[in-house]
Amino acid sequence: MKMLKMISALLIALVVNNSMAQSSVDDKTEVFFEKIADNVYVTTNNSGANVTMLVAEQSILLIDTGSRRAGTAESLYAGIRSISDKKIQYVINTHYHFDHSGGNQFFANLGATIIGQKYIKYSPSLHHITFNKKMTLNFAGEEVNIYHTPGHTLDSSIVHLVNNNILLMGDSFSTEMITYEGAGGKNGYDKLMKKVLSLTNDNSTIVPGHGVVSNIRDLIKSHKTRDIYRKRLGVLYAQGWSMESIFQDKTTKALISDFTKFYGHRLIPDMIEANFVKKASLPLNWLAQFSGRYLGADGLFTQITLIDGKLQMRRAGSFVIELKPLSKNRFDLVGFPFVQEEQVSFTFSKNKQVDKMLLQIPNRFVLNSWIVEGESKKIL
Ligand SMILES: [Zn+2]
Repeated sequence: MKMLKMISALLIALVVNNSMAQSSVDDKTEVFFEKIADNVYVTTNNSGANVTMLVAEQSILLIDTGSRRAGTAESLYAGIRSISDKKIQYVINTHYHFDHSGGNQFFANLGATIIGQKYIKYSPSLHHITFNKKMTLNFAGEEVNIYHTPGHTLDSSIVHLVNNNILLMGDSFSTEMITYEGAGGKNGYDKLMKKVLSLTNDNSTIVPGHGVVSNIRDLIKSHKTRDIYRKRLGVLYAQGWSMESIFQDKTTKALISDFTKFYGHRLIPDMIEANFVKKASLPLNWLAQFSGRYLGADGLFTQITLIDGKLQMRRAGSFVIELKPLSKNRFDLVGFPFVQEEQVSFTFSKNKQVDKMLLQIPNRFVLNSWIVEGESKKIL
């Protein structure tokens, strides 16, 4: 029975990993690259996220590697080979989500060096070189600047090809959907936009993580839509609407009807939790005691780590979510899409050491079957 439970938990984790990050996971066998500058190519028909390629005389730099569905990396590779036969030297991941980093192992096996922001280490994605705030590569006569822009995920980055005036946004921008804005909420996306506007102009090419190649006006429009949508969620939440009624509300839905892939409603609880639920203020030394490793009844481990003053939780190696304090020992889980109204609370032993963690989901109303309620014991 225990084995069965473990297997089903693993299966759930696999399903989540494949469907997470608002990925488009259509089966596509032939990958076409579109030329957007002299030596820069993008594919938007890849399985998983868009992939960009910078081709030098000697070698190739890839930004993201598509989903990890069987055959995806091979199809992507065939698409690359239709443009260039050079060695794939570097891969930059815009973030760890599996529709962006799925082909990492495949390209590493071909000799590529994988680069990501340092918090990629809290994910299962393969990586070789990490950076903190910014990294520069000189490649193919191009200055390639990678900036850490947390928001969509803790490790999200944007990639600027300075000479070609091209900005690769990862999932910080999509023309198909309101992207998941993570635990940073409005603050994270406002900071991101400020950075983007400092790097771009009217002639910049903006490549989204999903959807079509765009310009800065498209991005600003999307950002404004997000602001209006978020603001409405805040108003309804303040008026005491339930998550279900906000989720059903036609006026709210209509605000993001321009997006062809309607994922917005799944993001509602986390958008509200990140932006509008009142947070308790706890000192760092109090937060630090929750760091550690917890063992669940299902045999799976949960790791909790204090990063930049915030508790981040990683369960069974599949995701990173932030614990937002609601009281001294109760936290909201903020920072992963499709998980709703979930909370963890901690109990203490007689000698006042953190003892157990209890995960509760008082209200499941959309897809969130992957997360398992229950008690975990602190073992480290
Ligand atoms: Zn993503």
